[in-house]
Amino acid sequence: MACRNCGGEGLPALEEIDRIAREVALSMSGQLERPPVSGPALSARIEACQKCEGLAGSVLCTHCGCFVAVRALDPAQKCPHPAGSRWGAAGDR
Ligand code: SF4
Repeated sequence: MACRNCGGEGLPALEEIDRIAREVALSMSGQLERPPVSGPALSARIEACQKCEGLAGSVLCTHCGCFVAVRALDPAQKCPHPAGSRWGAAGDR
């Protein structure tokens, strides 16, 4: 699958996406008003993504182009599914 932004072929390895997600979480952890999503809310988001038909290659949301492991960390982000959020009450906080 080609990246819709840069046209590059293939997806980064899961280890690279995990590394990016850890860096994003670390960079957000100092934000007291909006710390990264964690615990049950993060699990709810990730589990919903894993069941979603919009997930490509186990890592990429085809509706927004984000790596779900990174998008799910951001409390300001919502699930972009056109039929409505798949993250549910636990994931939409
Ligand atoms: S549409 Fe929502 S649930 Fe589906 S992969 Fe994207 S962010 Fe995850």
